[in-house]
Amino acid sequence: METLDTDVTIIGAGPVGLCLARALSSAGLDITVVDRQARSALSTPAFDGREIGLTHRSRAHMQQLGLWQRLAAEDVSPLRDMQVLNGDSLQSMHVSHRGSGRDQLGYLVSNQGIRAAAFAAVGEADDIRLLDSARVTDVDSDADCARVRLEGGRELVSKLLVAADSRFSETRRAFGIGTRMFDVGRSMLVCRVTHDIPHHDIAWEWFGVGQTLARLPLGSAQPLGHRSSLVLTLPAREMRGIQALDEEAFAREMERRSGGRLGAIHSVSERHVYPLVTTYPRRFSGDRFALIGDAAVGMHPVTAHGFNFGLMSVQTLAREILQATAAGTDIAAPERLARYDREHRRATLPLYLATRGIVGLYTDDRRPVLRAALLRVGDGLVPFKRLLVASLTDDGTRLPRAALRPAPRGGA
Ligand SMILES: Cc1cc2nc3c(=O)[nH]c(=O)nc-3n(C[C@H](O)[C@H](O)[C@H](O)COP(=O)(O)OP(=O)(O)OC[C@H]3O[C@@H](n4cnc5c(N)ncnc54)[C@H](O)[C@@H]3O)c2cc1C
Repeated sequence: METLDTDVTIIGAGPVGLCLARALSSAGLDITVVDRQARSALSTPAFDGREIGLTHRSRAHMQQLGLWQRLAAEDVSPLRDMQVLNGDSLQSMHVSHRGSGRDQLGYLVSNQGIRAAAFAAVGEADDIRLLDSARVTDVDSDADCARVRLEGGRELVSKLLVAADSRFSETRRAFGIGTRMFDVGRSMLVCRVTHDIPHHDIAWEWFGVGQTLARLPLGSAQPLGHRSSLVLTLPAREMRGIQALDEEAFAREMERRSGGRLGAIHSVSERHVYPLVTTYPRRFSGDRFALIGDAAVGMHPVTAHGFNFGLMSVQTLAREILQATAAGTDIAAPERLARYDREHRRATLPLYLATRGIVGLYTDDRRPVLRAALLRVGDGLVPFKRLLVASLTDDGTRLPRAALRPAPRGGA
């Protein structure tokens, strides 16, 4: 058996695994990233329909890691405000950037663009080794080291093993870490469209009867109209019917489902469908082992926080590892991993739980009156809005009430 000694092994070369590798680079560590996908798929990722809402903090972090500079200007769209609409009523909750001290709530960047930028940033570093098309057959760890065995007989022995292998992490499961999983019982379809009515850089999320539809504003106007990403959530069975429609029929169906809010839809990109399952493990660390990204916190996309939380996990864990390296101490000391675990839990659990509650409320068509009442009262959702705006603009302490005002009736 061939054995490779490396300081840190990261399983998963998704955006979060690559960001951790980049964050640890140039500190005198030997870093190995393992992914089952081929190098070509990782370096030139395919369009996957996801438009990632990014916070100001994430932008700064991506800049620091050398990712933001690699995004083309047309890949970054401003997200000024958000609106939440309820059923067929004219009531809405407005989440405004105003008064947050920022000129917009955040940014939208395609997942494809983020992955490509992360891969390119890692490619520059000569202390990061990428093992692509690799199959992990076994993992284990003890107080001395962590071991990863790959198909073909290779073994990686490291001081720290990090799992960044998605919300359905096989590594987490192999370590026996129990995980609360919540199957929302819905699928989410995402695609890009061009349409007639301008979006003014405002996103909306419409919790309609029997469906949830979101519109995310993208970039500048195109010859064929304004560009947006559409996010449709339905029970899986109904989604199969929608998926079977040809492009023309799908465009008409989305005009109908959006209640005319977009005007005519002219063109549609490839469509992608994701099952909605949220995950939260009992712990984020063990002996010489840590979980980051979706392997740690699998958020519902509705509050646009999965990757933002992934970057937070990178920041918190990298800080511990780099401090230990600078001090010449163990990078996987139990107290360091325990601190990472605690801090990341504290940073993510409130919004994870609040999102679950909100999703339950808004996707339950038996409770339209309660939903309407909450929107009408406005202040009924203030704690959630405060949490959401604060986490988008990263400044919960200074958030004035102006950012939380109820929207004018009927506004879209
Ligand atoms: C429709 C949708 C919209 C979203 N919108 C937002 C948003 O607006 N804002 C936001 O912050 N987040 C959003 N997210 C979440 C965001 O996409 C994820 O949080 C992010 O992609 C997680 O990155 P990751 O690197 O942790 O995991 P992943 O992107 O899942 O990458 C995991 C990597 O691990 C590899 N892998 C898996 N298993 C193995 C194995 N056994 N061995 C080797 N390699 C393995 C995979 O090949 C992959 O490369 C959205 C998600 C969806 C589905």
